[in-house]
Amino acid sequence: MNSEIDTLLPQVRQPSRYGGNELHVVKKKWDSVALRMVLAFPDLYELGMSHQGLQILYHIVNARENLLAERVYTPDRDLEELLRDRRLPLFSLESQRSVADFDILGITLPYELCYTNILTILELAGLPFRSADRTGAHPLVIGGGPCAFHPEPVADFFDAILLGDGEEAILEIAEAVRAAKESGEGRQTVLERLSRIEGVYVPSFFEPRYDDGGKFLGTQVLSGTGLVRRRILADLEGASIEQPPLVPLTRIVHDRLGLEIARGCTRGCRFCQAGMIYRPVRERTPEKIFAMAEKGIAEGGFEELAACLRVSAVLAGRHPHSGDHGADQAGAQDRFYPGAGGGHRPVAPGDQQGDHRGRLDGHGGCGLWPGLEIDQALLHVRVAHRNRGGRGRDPGPGPEDAESRAGRQLPGERERRHLCAQAPYRV
Ligand code: SF4
Repeated sequence: MNSEIDTLLPQVRQPSRYGGNELHVVKKKWDSVALRMVLAFPDLYELGMSHQGLQILYHIVNARENLLAERVYTPDRDLEELLRDRRLPLFSLESQRSVADFDILGITLPYELCYTNILTILELAGLPFRSADRTGAHPLVIGGGPCAFHPEPVADFFDAILLGDGEEAILEIAEAVRAAKESGEGRQTVLERLSRIEGVYVPSFFEPRYDDGGKFLGTQVLSGTGLVRRRILADLEGASIEQPPLVPLTRIVHDRLGLEIARGCTRGCRFCQAGMIYRPVRERTPEKIFAMAEKGIAEGGFEELAACLRVSAVLAGRHPHSGDHGADQAGAQDRFYPGAGGGHRPVAPGDQQGDHRGRLDGHGGCGLWPGLEIDQALLHVRVAHRNRGGRGRDPGPGPEDAESRAGRQLPGERERRHLCAQAPYRV
């Protein structure tokens, strides 16, 4: 199969998206492991490689000697057409093996707009769409990610869906499937094993109920353990990844080192998905963040400073350790900002100085903003607050008391919004 793919890649745009030759990529011998999984991001490579969650799981799985994880992204139209024309299956980046050869196909559910790409991946892999039509000869298709919290629109396509944090659960899932594979268990027994793992929802063990108008009323338990409890990683600090970051050979959407300084958000704006699904707040210590930043920059050679901005924002913001590190904050500026120029500074809502380049104050902050460069943050403000979408689906400005009820109002926000609206930055 490799030689056939080799003949395809020169015919597509940006073939480096499919070569699996990034810096720090993990390539294991196929026969040296007990269980193989392919992690799929249902969108183009440039978006998928910007997604931290997939990289975290990739490294966690590959750190285990008896497990193997490879990656696949939705191919662009040109490669998709070639694969269909030549009747070739979708392949993983690392080994260029057919996706159908793996034991588990893990698909991230990042946003609803990519749901059709999930079907594209299944179809190109030669897998039946619906879980009910798949057999033991097919990989288990397991979903996870932000949209796992409202999975019913895609539930029929998945054998299991993980709700919540994946760091620990992915290893438990792998172990359950490995044990079932070793003892030759059938698909139904494997699903029963999976349903006993905290956070795993097996759609075939439930039946959704709808009213006459098609409104979703809930699910009825058919078998298994019943209630599914969201998986929560208690210790974010301890779960830090030591492996060097994957460095793409082509330009991606977020072409920089990404560091997760915290998970969850203290504010809980009611319109914000991230503010709800990543609860409770868990933060890394500044020492850990500095160590991760220095290591990641040294190993990855990234030039973008987004991760460093996040570090500084933590030190300046509501982080419980922020008071201890005033000197470190200045040090971070020296260490990580040289060459960044005046336009690249930490920025966050809640600035008490009336200046959009200020620091986080003690009244609140957005878990998404501290890592953004100033022009991007202004974009966030301008787009979100003008009711044009944005990650948080901000409903837009309204009466002060309504904003307060939505949990989103920060001191001086109206004044800042006015400032941002006038800011001379290009969108
Ligand atoms: S501050 Fe930002 S991340 Fe936190 S809940 Fe509000 S919109 Fe969401």
